[in-house]
Amino acid sequence: MQDLIRQLLVEIGEDPTREGLLNTPKRVEKALKFLASGYDADIDVVLNNAYFTVDYSEMVIVKDIDFYSLCEHHLLPFFGKCHVAYIPSTKVIGLSKIPRLVDVFARRLQVQERLTNQIADTIREKIAPLGVAVVMEATHLCMSMRGVEKQNSFAVTSAMLGAFRDNSRTRMEFLELLSLRSAVPGLSGRTQAGLACVGDD
Ligand code: ZN
Repeated sequence: MQDLIRQLLVEIGEDPTREGLLNTPKRVEKALKFLASGYDADIDVVLNNAYFTVDYSEMVIVKDIDFYSLCEHHLLPFFGKCHVAYIPSTKVIGLSKIPRLVDVFARRLQVQERLTNQIADTIREKIAPLGVAVVMEATHLCMSMRGVEKQNSFAVTSAMLGAFRDNSRTRMEFLELLSLRSAVPGLSGRTQAGLACVGDD
């Protein structure tokens, strides 16, 4: 990988032998391996069977999970907040495991829509809840740094499964709870999937 990065530096007009860049290939390799570490992660190891049987059927919410990912179209970061809710049927997941689950899928090359769906689908698969909802709000550097389209390149995506899809009151209760947190610019269309990174340029 380091040879490729050295070559890349030459291609963009740099001199990889100058002092400041000498260790850059090594650093970039290390950074990329970390940022792509989600490919090697085993979901079951990450979740470590932290499923608990409960007699509880109220909504469980984990809000404001920070996440950082790389857009697969430009290999540039997109990052923001992820909010997860589910209604248990018989099992719950240890709360601390949910941010780790988000990291597994975020540390891959992604589009925001797929990342959102993968988190929701995995929770459905693992604990078969009555419903799952995932909302992700992110800034895409491939849009904001390149000045593409709007200045405000804030994208919101959502996945609503089971009760969150079928029952508008349940969905509204969740979205209501999210709006209690501090206002974030660009959230007016919260329930609509925003158009995240557009990959054709
Ligand atoms: Zn992009």
